[in-house]
Amino acid sequence: MASTETREWTCADCGVVARFDRPGVEKPDGWAKDGGQWRCLGCRREKVITDAMTTPDDAGRAATRHAIAEFELLRDPDASDGQVAKRAKTSPAIIRPIRAELRASGRLPDPDATD
Ligand SMILES: [Zn+2]
Repeated sequence: MASTETREWTCADCGVVARFDRPGVEKPDGWAKDGGQWRCLGCRREKVITDAMTTPDDAGRAATRHAIAEFELLRDPDASDGQVAKRAKTSPAIIRPIRAELRASGRLPDPDATD
């Protein structure tokens, strides 16, 4: 077997670098490759927010909250409503219907597995 290899990811947006020297790490948590370039979790969140903020009023803010909640639910479907709410900086009451909506549309796995 090859010796330990340090792998490195650089975020194309903010330049933050993530390094792992253990094998089996596919990518840093929450990072994704987009158009051949890596983006960190922070920048991906930013993008979700920016994309949702087409209207700078209450509707826009609600859309932003909804988009970020969706993003967090899809990223980590096993997280509880409370955990997702914390990450999305909102309340579990906001998360619950969005999770139900994602399940109904088939974008999240069936809820029978865990509850
Ligand atoms: Zn970044």
